Amino acid sequence: MKRILVTGGAGFLGSHLCDRLIRERNEVLCVDNLFTGRRSNIHHLLDHKNFEFLRHDITWPLYVEVDEIYNLACPASPVHYQFDPVQTTKTSVLGAINMLGLAKRLKIKILQASTSEVYGDPEIHPQPESYRGSVSTTGIRACYDEGKRCAETLFFDYHRQHGVEIKVMRIFNTYGPRMHPNDGRVVSNFIVQALKGEDITIYGDGQQTRSFCYVDDNIEGMNRLMNSRDGFTGPVNIGNPGEFTMLELAEMVLELTGSKSKLKFLPLPQDDPMQRKPVIDLAKSELDWEPKISLREGLEKTINYFEKLI
Ligand code: NAD
Ligand code: UDP
Ligand code: UDP
Repeated sequence: MKRILVTGGAGFLGSHLCDRLIRERNEVLCVDNLFTGRRSNIHHLLDHKNFEFLRHDITWPLYVEVDEIYNLACPASPVHYQFDPVQTTKTSVLGAINMLGLAKRLKIKILQASTSEVYGDPEIHPQPESYRGSVSTTGIRACYDEGKRCAETLFFDYHRQHGVEIKVMRIFNTYGPRMHPNDGRVVSNFIVQALKGEDITIYGDGQQTRSFCYVDDNIEGMNRLMNSRDGFTGPVNIGNPGEFTMLELAEMVLELTGSKSKLKFLPLPQDDPMQRKPVIDLAKSELDWEPKISLREGLEKTINYFEKLI
């Protein structure tokens, strides 16, 4: 039995990962400062004999004994990571240093939840891992994008300099049950607005695109990456190559919810990427992974969850 540390374990992706690791008979130490995470996401695990929750901020050192680390702690929604941008950069950078220091001391494997945001507002389309990105260092998204880029650098330097075994995963927009209703990201916003009969808020003209991956596909990819062959570090893109404009997404949500909500056009936020779509050849060849759940099917499951919640 392995004892596995999940930072950000009370968040959206982290709580699904904890579920899976517990199901696979591991011990899980979930570390979270509950900034965007919620106890309700892990409520059903709190009494489990193999599950332990520790409220802690990873910008501070952490001395524990574990066999593997998944480093997911970091707010992911623009609304939340821009709320306290300095803390966002600290979480990515100091958090990575502390978790890498822990991995180095214990000589254990560590996986980093990186992001497609390292590609910024991309000049090439779709984006392979070899693309170096087009990121503003001074804009309002930089605290997140540059924090995650620096974290990747730290992972590769701890690997080269100290021999730490690393797995770096570049996650593209992922959605599903347990997103916070006020998370602020587009899928949860549209669904909650449609279910409440409120206006659907489209930023800009709605022609910008994203590729949306359902949470179960993401967690499968994460698990395969952690257990990939020795020496395979990534970075590897994990996302769904299906590409949709925000208008197409809004129309699908309206159709699936049967809502009569109207579209409301609001200004496009600064530095908002125009398009995003992963090349997943590396995930296919190294991890034998590709997403299985279509946007329509994933939205149905997510709508189901929000219907019960609100
Ligand atoms: P989330 O906001 O639901 O989860 C993040 C968790 O980290 C929360 O529980 C939060 O309380 C915790 N946290 C934040 N700062 C912390 C700190 N300093 N110390 C301890 N805990 C802290 O977001 P999510 O969608 O589950 O994202 C999880 C990870 O995946 C993040 O690192 C994010 O950058 C990455 N990611 C997610 C997506 C996506 O679309 N969901 C895309 C790319 C990357
Ligand atoms: N660290 C930690 N837990 C550990 C080991 C290290 O939180 O079990 C932190 C420690 O605070 C340090 C950071 O990780 O600041 C980086 O560790 P490293 O060994 O690389 O650096 P050093 O201690 O030499 O500064
Ligand atoms: N967006 C939107 N309405 C919303 C929330 C987001 O039109 O209520 C747009 C946003 O401008 C962006 C896209 O949807 O172009 C995805 O936004 P999200 O915050 O989900 O993720 P990210 O921009 O980080 O990919």
